[in-house]
Formats: sequence, structure tokens, C-alpha cells
Amino acid sequence: MNSERPDPRFHQAKWNEPLLFEMSESGVIGHLVPSPEKGIMETVGSLDSLLPKELQRRSLPAIPEISEVQVVRHFTRLSQMNFSVTSGTYPLGSCTMKYNPVVNDWAAASDGFAWLHPYQDVSTSQGALELMWELEQWLVEITGMAAVTLQPPAGAQGEFTGVLVMREYHRCVTGECEQRDEMLIPDAAHGTNPASAAMAGHKVVVIPSDDEGLVDIDALKAAAGSRTAGLMLTNPNTIGVFEKNIREISGIVHDAGGLLYYDGANFNAIMGITRPGDMGFDVVHLNLHKTFATPHGGGGPGAGPVGVSDKLAEFLPVPRIVRNDVGTFDFDYDHPRSIGKVHGFYGNFGVLVKAYTYIYALGKHGLRRASETAVLNANYIAVHASKIPGFSLPYSQDAPRMHECVISAEGLLEDTGVSAMNVAKRLLDFGVHSPTVYFPLIVPEALMIEPTETETKKELDFFIDMLRRISEEAYSNPEKVKSAPQSTALRHLDEYRAAHPKTLALSWRMFNEKKLDAQE
Ligand SMILES: *Cc1c(COP(=O)(O)O)cnc(C)c1O
Repeated sequence: MNSERPDPRFHQAKWNEPLLFEMSESGVIGHLVPSPEKGIMETVGSLDSLLPKELQRRSLPAIPEISEVQVVRHFTRLSQMNFSVTSGTYPLGSCTMKYNPVVNDWAAASDGFAWLHPYQDVSTSQGALELMWELEQWLVEITGMAAVTLQPPAGAQGEFTGVLVMREYHRCVTGECEQRDEMLIPDAAHGTNPASAAMAGHKVVVIPSDDEGLVDIDALKAAAGSRTAGLMLTNPNTIGVFEKNIREISGIVHDAGGLLYYDGANFNAIMGITRPGDMGFDVVHLNLHKTFATPHGGGGPGAGPVGVSDKLAEFLPVPRIVRNDVGTFDFDYDHPRSIGKVHGFYGNFGVLVKAYTYIYALGKHGLRRASETAVLNANYIAVHASKIPGFSLPYSQDAPRMHECVISAEGLLEDTGVSAMNVAKRLLDFGVHSPTVYFPLIVPEALMIEPTETETKKELDFFIDMLRRISEEAYSNPEKVKSAPQSTALRHLDEYRAAHPKTLALSWRMFNEKKLDAQE
């Protein structure tokens, strides 16, 4: 293949876009308030004349003075410099960036749901409660647990909620809360697991992976004991392999008196095929914004429902949603052993409507089919990508991959000096989002690829072709790969600066302060 041919199909728009504050012009009004009698021809102008004196501000807030069309164009231009699942393949491993059917947004945006106020009387929000109650029942069935709460607004908060429930169980039931202060967590786990366990007051005990990338059973046996509060496990694990010793693992932890937590953020491989409840788990969280199609990124919005076994149900957050004998729905706060509320109101309701619509549209067989296709797609990539010079498939070579696969670019780095990060950035030039890189930590030069079920075979072949092309470039012209991306709006980002709180200006005030500092 000729690596000098032009890059196919992708050139990102590039705007020198100022901040809205910088576009502000004194006296410009964003929206005219039409006069109630005469309409737009005679506008009221300022809201002041409509608002009672006691509700008016003494001074105007320091917000940009700018017209509506300028605002809309500003955000459209910014969006053109971004990449999304509606622009191209987005194989960001562990994040499940699947296409989100438009019908989900249609449902969430329908007036009855979108204009609902959380302080409305339950007699006027029965439909919303019914939807939440039914979604809980479906998630009970999908996870094999006894009860579900929809309250946590993210996966990490679902973990925190689940771990608090476990701690409360040890406090109230076994009476061993003080003594059971250790949470066992495999070294391949998502970083939120140790963070959640530590936030809930636990000491984190790291369990190493064995040669196959699975939980090291001997190490687990040695670590489990009278101080064990529980084990937090991701299955399929972060290299995309199903823990084949799952029964033995759950036996070891339960025999030691601990509880089993299932990180179900990546449920995309197992819907309708197997269930954490059947594997012996006591607690599980799901990410509705991954597996159940709600779009996500940049921190939200999400939903991280938590399912628990029967003996833990009394500790779930309040309010619980109940169906009365006559078929009406209500909030139930009467759970004295509940850990309390973990989020304002009842969860991210719009996200719940989207997940409800998604499950409703696919049905039981459709969910299973989605998982089967996701697994097929991940294996297709694993097989083809690992044959490309410079790339390999570390750990459990013979085990099938589940929702994702982790490819190592260690060989490529040794041979050519081109790293996993360079490969990820070069992919952007072809209109493909970068895979997750350098995670899990147990794989050197990791590229964690999750195609999801929504990519066609044609797109998968294109992705594999581009990996092959990048490998050829690395061996013939490594500088070309290292100087990528060329076709994106912004080119070489300083990753350290981009991630460091000291260098970020998170508000207009910070931005101005930094500007002043720079001038001094
Ligand atoms: C995404 C993810 C989480 C955290 O979910 P958030 O909604 O981002 O807080 C936890 N565990 C795993 C395995 C994940 O992939």
C-alpha cells in the first residue's frame, strides 16, 4: 500500500472560535420579550418591567451580551471541531460508545416527560413512576438480582452506593463492619473501583492477575479472610475475557464472609446470556449510558443503577418506587436501614427514559442479539488486528474476547519507535476515534478496542485496514505517524497541560486571572 496517498474522507472543520465572553458587545440583547398584547412588533424590551420589584436583581449578572443566532453558531462551530459517534467509528474501549437510536431521544423529549417537575405531586406523575418502576423490574430480570435502585447518576456513584450498601450490611447484620475493612480489587480493575472502596472507608487490597490475565486464584485465597468486606470484580474483565473461574472466586469470597460486587459498567457482552445474580454476586451496578445506549462523554449525563440480592435490599437508597395494590405508584421512604439518598430527587430521569425506550424497542431477544453481535465484532477485530506487524493480543490467546479486545503495540514501539499513543492519534486522521490507550495497566502499549454491535462489517474492515496502513507507515516512515494527527481541528495537544488542574481555566474569572498573571 502506498502510504503517501491522501488520507481518506476526513477533514475536520477548523474555526478560530473566541469565547462567548469575548464576543460580547455592550447593549446586545439575546432575546426580545414580545408584548403580551401587540406581539413582536412592540416588545417589552427588558424583563424588568414584567417582574415585580422584589424579584429583580440590583445589578445585572456578568453574562455575555450576545444575540441568539451568534450563540447557536458558536456552539455549532465548536461541535464541528469535535468528534462523536454520529461522525464515525468510536471504538473507545470500556466506554461502549454505541450508536444511540433517535427514537430514545424522541421519547425523552416528549412533553409529558421533559416538562415534568420533580416536586410535582405523585398523583400527576404516575406515568413517570410507572416507567421507573417497570425499568427497575427489567433490570432485575437482566441482572438476576432481587431489587434495583435507579438513583445513582453515574457508574462510579453506583459503585460508591453499592459499597455503602455492603458496609451497612456488615454493620447491621454481621456486626463486623469495624473488622471487615478490606476491599479486594484485581489489578486490572477500572480506577473507579479502588476510589469508591476507599471513599466508603475501606482499605484496598490489590489482587494480581495470573498469566492468563484472570484473577490469580491462589492470591485471592491468601488475601480473603476475616477482614474482607468484599471483592469488586469486573466480568468480562478489562482485557475483554470472561472470568472462567467465577464460581470458585465467588465461593472463596463468600466462605471468608465477604460480599461480591460486580462492576457491570460493561454489560454489553452478556445481556440475555448470563447474569451476575446467577454467578453468585450480591451487588451489581450498570451503566445505562454505556450498555443501554444513552449518549455520554465529557462527564455526563449518566445513570448507574444498582441491583442487590434479597438480603441487601433493605439498605438501598430511598425513596423506593412501589406499586400499590390498586396499580398506582408511589414513593416509599419507610426503610429505616436505608443508606439514605445518594442523589437529588430520583436519578437522571431523561437517561432512564432513553434506557427504557432502548430496552422496549429491542425486547429480550433483541438485547441478546445486540450482545452476540458486539462479541462477534470484538473478536473479528482481535483476530485481524493481532496479525498486523507490530501488534499482538496479550493474555489468554485462545479464549474468545467478549465486548472488547486489548491489542498491544509493544512490538511496534520496539521495532519503529511508534507508540500506542501515536497509533491512536494517527487513527484520527482517518475519521476514526482513538481507542482507549494505556489501560488496563497490565498490558504494555495497550490499545483497548470496543467496536460495539452498531458498527457494520464494512466499518470494521475499514478500521482494520487503517491499523494495517499505520503499521506500514510506522515501518517505512515513523515520523509521519508520530506527527499525527494532521486532519483534526487541533493537532498536538499537550496531554499533561490538558489534564492538569493548575493549568486549566474552568471559569471566565479564572481565565482573566490567568491572563493577568501572565502579564505580570
Ligand atoms: C465506565 C466504567 C466505570 C465508571 O462509570 P462512570 O459512569 O464513568 O462513572 C466503572 N467501571 C468500568 C469497568 C467502566 O468501564
